[in-house]
Amino acid sequence: MEGCCTQGPGALRSTCPECGRPGRPVDRVTLEALLRPDALARLEAGDHRFCPTRECPTVYFGPGDSFRREDVLVPVFQKQLEGDGRTVCYCFDVAEATIRREVVTSGDSASADRIRALVQSGRCACEVRNPQGTCCLGNVAMVVASARAWRESAPAPSLRAT
Ligand SMILES: [Zn+2]
Repeated sequence: MEGCCTQGPGALRSTCPECGRPGRPVDRVTLEALLRPDALARLEAGDHRFCPTRECPTVYFGPGDSFRREDVLVPVFQKQLEGDGRTVCYCFDVAEATIRREVVTSGDSASADRIRALVQSGRCACEVRNPQGTCCLGNVAMVVASARAWRESAPAPSLRAT
């Protein structure tokens, strides 16, 4: 399956002008869909990249422009802290907290399974909904793994299913 999970060609500038870390290629359509109107009006030509560094305020950068968190219509998962009410799946509006709660109570996440099935059936629109411009499944898997590790390390029977 192609489409939401493919990545574009490399950009001329590959590291973030603000934090200096490597950015991930992001399709122009993602910026067009998720930039606020005044930010979209500044969008220059050329390949753009997404900066995933949490502490860095820059979200997108290109050869002649860059955009920060406040220029983007939705909160950016990578730029928020856990417990900040993060949305992990933008297409189907699944909160990180929902997945964590499911894993802590049952050891598994029905929401994660549902997202996976919907993505596999081609119903996702990550390139226009998720600010990273690619599929959220990697982030979902990371949340599940982190919640499992927490569940195994914390003896908290009160949080288990009743
Ligand atoms: Zn950065």
